[in-house]
Amino acid sequence: MLIPKPKENINTCFICGRKAVSVEHVFPKWLQRQYNLWDEQIVLPNGTSVQYRKLLVPSCKKCNNDIYGLLEKKVSSGNSSESDIWKWANKIHYALCYKDRFFEWDRKNPRYKIGDVFRQNDSLEKDRHFLHCVSGGFKTTPDPFGSVFKFNFDKKVAFAFAHLLQTSSISITLGKIGYIVFITDGQSLKKESGINQLFKNLPTPHKREDMLFFHAQCIEMMARHKLGQNIIMSNNRISRSGPTVVHKAEPPDEERFRAICKTLGLNWIDSEKLIT
Ligand SMILES: [Zn+2]
Repeated sequence: MLIPKPKENINTCFICGRKAVSVEHVFPKWLQRQYNLWDEQIVLPNGTSVQYRKLLVPSCKKCNNDIYGLLEKKVSSGNSSESDIWKWANKIHYALCYKDRFFEWDRKNPRYKIGDVFRQNDSLEKDRHFLHCVSGGFKTTPDPFGSVFKFNFDKKVAFAFAHLLQTSSISITLGKIGYIVFITDGQSLKKESGINQLFKNLPTPHKREDMLFFHAQCIEMMARHKLGQNIIMSNNRISRSGPTVVHKAEPPDEERFRAICKTLGLNWIDSEKLIT
């Protein structure tokens, strides 16, 4: 293990393993205030709901105030780079997956946690390493490590958030801006010509439905292609080794694409073509 793994309990900072002195909101307070999310509900992977304000993680003073406070300031002021947005989405993704280690899959029959169901070669550990790039002294190559797509709407849209576990991706709207962030794809999608062309061809200003449809296309693309992206982790860097290699691509699967669209709350539009 490259960065010492913290004990997973309420007395230990969820990121660095120092003693926790406070709790941090998974969805930062400024965001909950701005979009009045406190009592709104978010659906967990087991189908149950929890209020945004109840999603808390234990945190140390340094992470909460100094390191991540600075990042929150940048994002809340709208003065953030793609790299900042990736780090920020990374934090929400990690914190949500971290919470899944504590939530029971079945509250009436508490035998295993949500995280046990979704564990894939301990990808949470990889996500935690990624997160250390926010505290400095730690770089990712490329930077940002994942694909960030920015959408500009012509007017403010209602707050919307989606967390897709299987692809480690997040979709979020912040007023007139929307982001789709793939946390761990090594910018494979950004470098994929079909996806790139599709993004460039979206009519502007963007529409929220187009953003969701684009997210669905990206997920379908990831499901079909086996992307070569070996990750090298050292104590101060995470890098992709070599270029993106597509090992294998299945033909587009309309059934699966319909299912993805449904997950994102989109109605399938028959005239829309899947990119090949
Ligand atoms: Zn900490």
